[in-house]
Amino acid sequence: MIVEKAYLELYPDAKLGEYDFSLNYSRKFNDYNANVKRKGNKIEFNLSRKWEKINDDVRIGLIQILLNKIFKTIVSTPNIELYEIFLKKVHIAIPKVKNDPILESSFDRVNEKYFCGLIEKTNLMWGMDSIRKLGSYEYGSDTITVSKIFLNSRRELLDYIMYHEMLHKKHKFYTKNGRSYHHTGEFNRQEKLFENQKQIERDISVLVRQNRRKRGFLKFFSL
Ligand SMILES: [Zn+2]
Repeated sequence: MIVEKAYLELYPDAKLGEYDFSLNYSRKFNDYNANVKRKGNKIEFNLSRKWEKINDDVRIGLIQILLNKIFKTIVSTPNIELYEIFLKKVHIAIPKVKNDPILESSFDRVNEKYFCGLIEKTNLMWGMDSIRKLGSYEYGSDTITVSKIFLNSRRELLDYIMYHEMLHKKHKFYTKNGRSYHHTGEFNRQEKLFENQKQIERDISVLVRQNRRKRGFLKFFSL
């Protein structure tokens, strides 16, 4: 089975039988997402259905990344390298089905102003009204998600979050000793090129504090 193969190639000294592996393909994931769960010696891998059609060598890389995660190791393998190449390129194959007019105008504004229009459109969606996770870019589904606290904010604040996530699509990540780095020196340097960056970051902190306070009140009134 593919999991055993991935396991033995990652840990050549390990012996099989110590763990009870299972592998499921599930519809609940976006595109190329996956996760792993451990209960005692039972280890369950859940991969999105899309992975069923992907080449074994790439799939082994994904499983090895999940094994590294669950065993807190940082072993790298040729399969992991393959998987990383796959993840950096897969956006080309992802259908763009999620969109929103506010997010799309933000994407287009930022693209024109900072990237000469060269960043290809991603899926775009609003997340929860989170004050901890303001935005994210997911490689496996080519999706930028922005916290709803920016829905009615000043345009520049939304654009700054969008800019940060678009930089992730542009720079991807690099991996060293089994760890992936997403906010590299070059990333941070380019992030600072956003107009009025310092002031915008302060304004975003204020917006986050306001939302925290608002939530505090809500809690009080619902008691
Ligand atoms: Zn980031």
